[in-house]
Amino acid sequence: MTLSSPPNQPDPLSGRLDGNAAAGQLREIFAVDLTAAVGCCSGCGRTGAIGEAHCYGPAPGIVLRCTGCDGVLLRIVTTDDRVWLDMRGLSILQLSLRG
Ligand SMILES: [Zn+2]
Repeated sequence: MTLSSPPNQPDPLSGRLDGNAAAGQLREIFAVDLTAAVGCCSGCGRTGAIGEAHCYGPAPGIVLRCTGCDGVLLRIVTTDDRVWLDMRGLSILQLSLRG
């Protein structure tokens, strides 16, 4: 969105919308059990279920580490009204849409 475009209206030149346009898809994706999701480590390329990762925490946040190279896959920090996700250690996260 450019400064000349109102919110939720496509940019007249690129057709791009703001991230709110993905709300429905994001709600569907993040309503699933992520421990069953399959992640690929961006450090070593190992692929496995998120529930198999090594977990450290909970304070000051949860850190999931790769069982292959011990690299950080995912960080989760939660406060009373916000959640921060750092997923840069996952090159791919594969989710099943069927329970
Ligand atoms: Zn790894």
